[in-house]
Amino acid sequence: MIKRNKNTWLAKVKRTFTAMLPVAKNRMGQCVNCGACCRLPNNCLFLKFKPDGKSSCFIHPLRPLNCRKYPRTKAEWLTEDACGFKFKN
Ligand code: SF4
Repeated sequence: MIKRNKNTWLAKVKRTFTAMLPVAKNRMGQCVNCGACCRLPNNCLFLKFKPDGKSSCFIHPLRPLNCRKYPRTKAEWLTEDACGFKFKN
């Protein structure tokens, strides 16, 4: 479940610029290819799904920095129900 009230284009623009900053050191885990972050704020044109339900990025080797680093910080993390990453307190 995506945090709908925070899933805005303004948040996307902010993530695009802050993607130049490092990933938070308290981030743990790994991507499980759920595809939830590829829907922020709406479905990415390059988002595809495999028969097993896992997501696939059509331009994965060329994907932008904000996609590569998502979720960069806990504050920018909008997909915690589905995401394989976690943040230590
Ligand atoms: S929400 Fe998390 S687990 Fe899902 S595709 Fe994005 S980074 Fe990967």
